[in-house]
Amino acid sequence: MAKGVLCVLSGFSGSGKGTIMKEVVNRYDYALSVSATTRKPREGEQEGVSYFFLTTDEFKSMIAENGFIEWAQYVGNYYGTPRAYVEEKLSAGKDVILEIEPQGAMQVKEQYPDAVLIFVLPPSGEELYRRLTGRGTETEEVIRSRMKRASEEAAYIDQYDYVVINDDLGESVEAVHAIIRSARERRSAHAEATERICSEIKIMVP
Ligand code: ADP
Ligand code: 5GP
Repeated sequence: MAKGVLCVLSGFSGSGKGTIMKEVVNRYDYALSVSATTRKPREGEQEGVSYFFLTTDEFKSMIAENGFIEWAQYVGNYYGTPRAYVEEKLSAGKDVILEIEPQGAMQVKEQYPDAVLIFVLPPSGEELYRRLTGRGTETEEVIRSRMKRASEEAAYIDQYDYVVINDDLGESVEAVHAIIRSARERRSAHAEATERICSEIKIMVP
């Protein structure tokens, strides 16, 4: 069976990538990888749904056991993608979405060269600040650190395959879905079938 598409979705904190991803998974049949983090849960976040919330010691043990396909530090906390779920779903032919920051995205790109990398941008700098403050989940100090981090993350955008400007949420969701759908039809994804069909045709030629 053809392997599923691995899609990496990154974007500045507050750009709306989490919202896009939730809606993509609501509307379509994608497997969403749940990350592990040492960050404290926000109001309303659920263990095993939003994240697996770990202590730093637990996180470091998982690194030592090669339990992550990638991990990184972001504004004082560890974040990582558990290996088992992603590999199981891809092998079963399911498309998997990872919502991760750029350092992790670069590690994924190296290990999975066929992964599709999408960077989500807000429509403007002002709107990014509005969304970050409007979410009401972070202190002013954390918001400042995240804005600073956004300006550093901009350097990675060149390494991504696609940019989605998240102005209208519905349009962004459809754009992400269309990108993954077309990745399914890449030549490399059909290598086995191409080989089989072409050799069948060769045999038929007298
Ligand atoms: P991220 O996961 O990138 O940090 P979130 O998904 O938490 O960002 O979104 C940040 C805030 O912006 C949230 O309050 C969310 O409801 C809002 N938001 C997301 N997408 C849009 C959009 N297209 N238009 C307006 N507000 C949005
Ligand atoms: P937040 O604290 O807002 O949930 O996430 C902060 C940043 O960490 C976001 O850019 C988010 O995409 C990223 N992130 C979430 N999970 C992972 C992960 O498993 N690995 C990496 N490298 N980044 C992650």
